[in-house]
Amino acid sequence: MADVYLIGAGPGDPGLLTVRAKELIETCDIVVYDYLANAEFLSYARPDAEIIYVGKKGGDHTLPQDKINDLLVDRASQGKSIARLKGGDPYVFGRGGEEAEELIAAGLTFEVVPGITAGVAAAAYAGIPVTHRDHTTSVCFITGHEDPTKEKSGHNWDVYAKSTSTLVFYMGVGNLPMIAEKLISGGRDPKTPAALVRWGTRCTQESMVATLETVADEAARRGFKAPSIIIVGGVCSLADKLSWFEKRPLMGKGVVVTRAREQASGFADTLREMGACAFQFPTIEINPLPDYAEVQAAIGQIENYDWLVFTSVNGVLKFWEQLDGMGLDTRVLGGRKVAAIGPATAEALVARGVRPDFVPPKYVAESVVAGLIERGVGQGTKVLIPRARVAREVLPEELSKAGADVTVLPVYETGLNEDGPEELVAKLDAGDIDYVTFTSSSTVENFFQLLAPEKLKQYPDVKLACIGPVTAKTLAEYGFTPDIQPEDYTIPALAAALAND
Ligand code: SAH
Repeated sequence: MADVYLIGAGPGDPGLLTVRAKELIETCDIVVYDYLANAEFLSYARPDAEIIYVGKKGGDHTLPQDKINDLLVDRASQGKSIARLKGGDPYVFGRGGEEAEELIAAGLTFEVVPGITAGVAAAAYAGIPVTHRDHTTSVCFITGHEDPTKEKSGHNWDVYAKSTSTLVFYMGVGNLPMIAEKLISGGRDPKTPAALVRWGTRCTQESMVATLETVADEAARRGFKAPSIIIVGGVCSLADKLSWFEKRPLMGKGVVVTRAREQASGFADTLREMGACAFQFPTIEINPLPDYAEVQAAIGQIENYDWLVFTSVNGVLKFWEQLDGMGLDTRVLGGRKVAAIGPATAEALVARGVRPDFVPPKYVAESVVAGLIERGVGQGTKVLIPRARVAREVLPEELSKAGADVTVLPVYETGLNEDGPEELVAKLDAGDIDYVTFTSSSTVENFFQLLAPEKLKQYPDVKLACIGPVTAKTLAEYGFTPDIQPEDYTIPALAAALAND
């Protein structure tokens, strides 16, 4: 056990964190992070962990380096374990070495967790391998922003210029004209390919390839700013051929996910894999019931039912929570037939050892009813529907009409998530949102309780996507028609429809 962990948080893509780093964020008492460390990782921290932002964006230091050092020493001396997160790798232009020296001087112990450095990762995500046998035998990491108080430059521009190395500059955008000029005047061919990658590995990644003689003008024209990596060398000519990340269908598109946080991660992950910048704005809160006596009673007499019909993943989750709590397991379902209203619900059942007897081809209540009747549900069939307290009544009503003896069993409640819309509005104002997605009528209703319809109308370029006709109808009640609506009423189909747009 060390006192302080100097952790590389990688270049930004949440998947590019090491297993060791995640483990430490999950267990440390304090997490200290800066500008380039993806704030998403903070969700791994313990709920009671202290989170400290120490900033650093260009020259604007939230905390100067000596104060950061003091903070680490001070907190660690109190016996608190510290995860010190830094963008990329802590020892590559991360001042991790200085922090380690301070810790040693204070008699503290530390461990270093290397991270994926931006110079390698941003390049790879832009289609540039930093080495390639046809182009170079070495790679050189260079700061493009030397400490301005340094009397004598540590750079030997002539060596860089004459080498055949791939040159990777960090913190160099501001000095790009000078860098290009020094390399050319030192003897590098002005036609050498040169690339910039901004916000590499993130959904907002942008890249460009030019030549040493054009790169500074081109970067200025396109408005490239920090944080960007500059890469110089023949390997940059491969970018066109090897580009993959920026080709994702939803690359850079801002997509709002309105479903409950508990349900949102699957959808958000799918969107991210398609390149989108998924923004979670959960409109629904999933709450447990104040009392589960009724649920436990139903489970106690489960053999009285012929069919169990699950209408949501949450219904499955909450039902099994009670089963578990009663010291029971899936075996109590014994000979019951089981239906799932859609593929996600079916998956949740399969994960609990239940292969549903019926999953309707169209994922709406009406087709569940038809399918169940086809499978023999009728006069006197006992059907149990574990679901949210308030939900559409079509399913129980239609099954009752068919003669079934239906019991609706509330296993959870949904409510309005009252977190304010400030962050969403800021993103809308900044033009960062391209789509808002609605995956149920209640997401629509709750969304407009949090953000007035008139307000949304102020952003006519933002497209609205609905999972199915019922949701679209609710949207119409607020004066909107969906721009996107998939054929299949599923989350993957909705994601695919966005990609096709
Ligand atoms: N320790 C970090 C580097 C910190 S210096 C690492 O190993 O990656 C800060 C500089 O890193 C930025 O100015 C920029 O040049 C580069 N950088 C960091 N993250 C980046 C990213 N996602 N995309 C492009 N450049 C990045």
